[in-house]
Amino acid sequence: LVKVKSLRKSYGDHVVLDNVNFEVESGKVVCIIGPSGSGKSTFLRCLNHLEKPDSGEIWIDGQPMGFQLKNQRLYELPEHKIAQQRARMGMVFQHFNLFPHLSVLDNITEGPVQVQRVAKAQARQRAMQLLERVGLADKAHQYPSQLSGGQRQRVAIARAVAMNPLFVLFDEPTSALDPELVGEVLSVMADLAREGMTMLVVTHEMTFAREVADQVVFMADGGIVETGTPEAIFTRPTQQRTQQFLQRVL
Ligand code: ATP
Ligand code: MG
Repeated sequence: LVKVKSLRKSYGDHVVLDNVNFEVESGKVVCIIGPSGSGKSTFLRCLNHLEKPDSGEIWIDGQPMGFQLKNQRLYELPEHKIAQQRARMGMVFQHFNLFPHLSVLDNITEGPVQVQRVAKAQARQRAMQLLERVGLADKAHQYPSQLSGGQRQRVAIARAVAMNPLFVLFDEPTSALDPELVGEVLSVMADLAREGMTMLVVTHEMTFAREVADQVVFMADGGIVETGTPEAIFTRPTQQRTQQFLQRVL
């Protein structure tokens, strides 16, 4: 579903990602772990082209991200076309970016109605089902400012899922939350994983990675150092860099 070939990204002469190769199959959950500054967020932002890679290719569902394939050559797409490609991926980031002036329900229906031209009544019905699933049906008519951080993140997840994305990218969705609110968000994410959603999750929650991921990717110093099943990465990492990191965080 997602295939990354020789991805490279630098800021000035600081190479943040160097020769990253990566693949995710449909229905899988991949957790990306690694020290601060290792390029995890940059990697997710390259996947959805919020950052333009210097070189390399990103293929999503058989299409080159940011490009159009024509006569076996890649042509760069204009920004509005890239936005259409991006709309096929859900995103949930550390700082919930709900629209503050819209109710919870309207936050969720906005994308389907405005971008996908879904009928309003239908979008509302689906939004209510999603709110039910994240345990927030009673908050449909509240505003984001009236919710706790954990509730906002659960709305953000419902909003991402409402667009029927090919997959959902999560960048440290719980790291800005009070500790007692982390569990409710992780449990919604675990439910989503069980329902078969393809997910790429940058996280510091090692227990979540261990229990929910199909594959764990350890990033450090601008690249993927090691990747494997949670079992392999957490109990018998082969790289010294991975061992050092896990010793510090476990
Ligand atoms: P964290 O765990 O702290 O979120 P991260 O693994 O997500 O870290 P990135 O945010 O991807 O790391 O940053 C990787 C490197 O790229 C860092 O050294 C950072 O300073 C640099 N960087 C990120 N964004 C920019 C930018 N817009 N301009 C210049 N440098 C940047
Ligand atoms: Mg980050």
